[in-house]
Amino acid sequence: MRTALRMSRLYAPTLREDPAEAEVPSHRLLLRAGMIRKVAAGIYDFLPLAWRSIAKIERIVREEMDAIGSQELLLPVVQPAELWHESGRWDLYGPELARLKDRAGRDFCLGPTHEEVITALVRNEVRSYRDLPLSLYQINVKFRDEMRPRFGLLRGREFIMKDAYSFHATQESLQEHYDEQARAYGRICDRLGLVWRAVEADSGQIGGKVTTEFMALADTGEAELVHCSCGFAANVEAAEAIVPGRPRHMSEETLRKVHTPDLRTIADIAAAFGLDERDTVKTMAGKTEDGRLVFFCVPGDRELNPVKAGRAVPGVVLLDEEDFAAYGIPKGSLGPVAPPDGTLVVADRSLAEERSWVVGANEDDYHLFGACPGRDFAVEVWADLVTARPGDLCPRCGASLEGARGIEVSQVFQLGTRYSETMGATFTDENGQERPFIMGCYGVGITRSLAAVIEQHHDDAGICWPVSVAPAEAIVLPLSNDADVADAAERIFAELADAGVETVIDDRDERAGVKFADADLIGWPYQVIVGRKGLSAGVVEIKHRATGERESVPVDDAVARTRMLVESQRS
Ligand code: ATP
Ligand code: MG
Repeated sequence: MRTALRMSRLYAPTLREDPAEAEVPSHRLLLRAGMIRKVAAGIYDFLPLAWRSIAKIERIVREEMDAIGSQELLLPVVQPAELWHESGRWDLYGPELARLKDRAGRDFCLGPTHEEVITALVRNEVRSYRDLPLSLYQINVKFRDEMRPRFGLLRGREFIMKDAYSFHATQESLQEHYDEQARAYGRICDRLGLVWRAVEADSGQIGGKVTTEFMALADTGEAELVHCSCGFAANVEAAEAIVPGRPRHMSEETLRKVHTPDLRTIADIAAAFGLDERDTVKTMAGKTEDGRLVFFCVPGDRELNPVKAGRAVPGVVLLDEEDFAAYGIPKGSLGPVAPPDGTLVVADRSLAEERSWVVGANEDDYHLFGACPGRDFAVEVWADLVTARPGDLCPRCGASLEGARGIEVSQVFQLGTRYSETMGATFTDENGQERPFIMGCYGVGITRSLAAVIEQHHDDAGICWPVSVAPAEAIVLPLSNDADVADAAERIFAELADAGVETVIDDRDERAGVKFADADLIGWPYQVIVGRKGLSAGVVEIKHRATGERESVPVDDAVARTRMLVESQRS
C-alpha cells in the first residue's frame, strides 16, 4: 500500500510542553507527539500515528503466530458470568474483573483474558486426539480494572493484547508448542527493536509452574531482574541467590555477650562496632501453622524473601507485633543461640561456612559476638532464603550477576489441565479414553510493547523509532516556501512513496525550526531536508533520527539513498 502523508492534513496534535501527569518517557512522548489522548484513568484514544504503529506491531505478531501454525480468530470482549463460574474464577478474580449486568439482570464481565471463552468453544467442537494439537490466537481489547493504572500505555485498564491458546493430547506436544511460542516471542522482541531478556519466572523453584516472561530492559520497568552474560536472567524474587562468601568470618572466635543498649537495627549495631552490615546476621521470626516458632537467619545486609521462607518451611508466616508479645521474644535482638524451646532454626546457606556470627542474644539490649554454628547453636535447615541482587553469583555459570529493571511485554505459560478439568473440556485419546485437554496460553501486550519501544528508543528531543514500528519511515522537510524548494520536495516525496517507502511531507506553512522540532519529536527514522542553499549546490541532506548522523546527497540520489537506508532497517 502506498503511504504518502501530508503534515498539513495529519491529525497529530503535537504539544510543546511536557504534560504534567506523565511520569515516564513513553507516556510523555506519546502525548506530546499527538499519538494518544487520555479518556479516563488507564483508558486512551489511539490517534492515527499510534494506530499506524500498533498496526505494524500487530503485523509482526501475526506473521510470527501464523509461521508457527497458530490460527487467528476473534472472541468476544463481553463474556457471560456462567463460564467464569465454571472455572471458579468469578469468585477468585477480584476487583480487577469488570462486571456488568445486561437488561435482564444477567451477569457479564469485560474479558481481562480469554481462557474460559476459548475452552468453552473448543470443548464443544474438538472431540478427538486426531484434531490435536490446536493453536488459536486473537488480537483484541482487554479490560482489567487495575488498582493503579499508570505510566500511560504501560499499565492501562483498557489495552490491546495478542493472546494465544493451545490444546494438546500430551505434555510433550504442549512442550513443543510452548518452545515454538517462546522462540516466536524472542523474534517478535527482536523485530520490534527491543533489548530484552527471557526470564524463567519460576525455573521450577516456586510452585512448579512452567512459564517464561519476556522483559524489555528499561529503568522505568516495574520488574527487578538479575541477569548474566551467559544468558541467565531471573526476577529477583524468584532467582536463586548465590551470595558471595565472606572470608573474614571463617575462623572461630570465643562467644562474647555484649551490652548494646538502644541498638535495635542492624545498621545501629554495625555503626556502633565499626562493622559492615554484612558482618552481622539478621534473625527474623515466623511461626508454622501449628504455632512452632521459626527463626530465619540471613546475612545482615540481605532481605528474607517470604516466598523462599515459605518454600523452606511450608505454611510459615512472619510474626506480627502481637505475636512477638505472645511468644515473649525481643524483636530487636533475636538470634539462633538459646532460642525459646522448640524453635526451628533455619539459616541462609551462604552462612554455612562462617564460624563467627554477630547475632541478637534473645534478650533486650544484648548481642552475641563470635557465635559459632555447631558449637553454640544448631541450624536445622540450611536453605536459599534471601532475595537475589546484583553482585550475587550466576547459578548457571558463577559469574557476577548484573541488575536491571524490565517491562514484561509478553509471557508464555503452561496451563496444564487447570481449565479443561474445571470446565469439562475433554477429548478421546487413541485408546478411546476421555481425557482433559492439556493447555498453554501465550500473551503479548501490543500497546505495552509500543510504549516499551519508546522507553528504549528516545532522546531529549523525542522518539527515535526503529523502522519496524515507526508510524512512517521517512519525512521530507522543505525548509522554505520557494517554488524550487517546494517542487523538489514534492517530487522526492512522490517518488519515495512510489518506491514503497512510507513517506510524510511537512508541507505546513511553518518555520524550519518548528518542522525540525516536530520531526524530531514524532521521530520519523529518516528526514530528507530540502533547503534553498543545498539545492543551489544540487544536494539535499538526509538525517538519521536515531544516531543524529547527517549525510549530504545529490538531489537525484535522494530517493534511492533513502529507500536503501529504510530497506536495510526493515524487519
Ligand atoms: P502485569 O504483571 O504487568 O500486571 P500480567 O502478568 O498480569 O501483567 P498477563 O496476564 O501475562 O499480564 O498478560 C499478557 C501481557 O499483556 C503482559 O505480558 C503485558 O504485556 C500485557 N498486559 C497485562 N496487563 C496490562 C496492562 N494493565 N496494560 C497494558 N498491558 C498489559
Ligand atoms: Mg504476565
